[in-house]
Amino acid sequence: ITSGASELGISLSDERAAELVRYLDILDVTNRSFNLTRIPREEYATLHVLDSLAALTVVSQKPHMRVLDIGTGAGFPGVPIAAALADAHVTLLDSTNKKVRFAADTAYQCGITNCVGIHQRAEALAKDSKHRCRYDLVVSRAVASFSTLAELMAPFIAPGGRAVALKGAKAHDEIAGADKLVRALGCSNPTVNAVTIPGTQIERYLIVFDKPTRARA
Ligand code: SAH
Repeated sequence: ITSGASELGISLSDERAAELVRYLDILDVTNRSFNLTRIPREEYATLHVLDSLAALTVVSQKPHMRVLDIGTGAGFPGVPIAAALADAHVTLLDSTNKKVRFAADTAYQCGITNCVGIHQRAEALAKDSKHRCRYDLVVSRAVASFSTLAELMAPFIAPGGRAVALKGAKAHDEIAGADKLVRALGCSNPTVNAVTIPGTQIERYLIVFDKPTRARA
């Protein structure tokens, strides 16, 4: 995990990597009774952790970032991002209580203490002034088509903040028409960035867009 992270240009201490390995071990055991992931254990490090960290390759880090993971499921990409950004505050959001409780409680138990879980639908949480326009970085993987996702993500981005949607090979098709959509949401500059997940030949596509510094709420 540490060498894969450094291939992505992300420094992850041995201690934080060990916390993530503990998280993956608990995920594996819990997954035998609760259906949390379909990815096999031997691919957790690449397809869950390194894939999640790939999102950070398009983010300029600043101190004490507030990060939101929409539809975190078993904690991806939010938990690896929390491990990598030790001084960030990461909110894990999912409409399934069982999943978000697993992710937040297990992360805490493993020493990744900068995450909290919220059980709510994104559409509902976006109406809450404590969350609307409050996040420097909004991430999401495998939740919805880009057009739906952009609508879920945009309300949470703080002025000057960024959204990163983790997408598969169809990203380029999904982004057709995105310029107009992203602008209608008060955001700008949608781009698609390809990253190879270290240790695999899988290309991950990151669709990125920004909320201007002087954005309307
Ligand atoms: N991001 C994880 C899980 C993907 S599965 C991963 O990549 O491994 C999609 C998750 O999104 C599910 O856990 C589902 O409960 C959640 N979800 C779907 N629509 C949602 C919404 N509108 N608000 C919050 N969570 C949502």
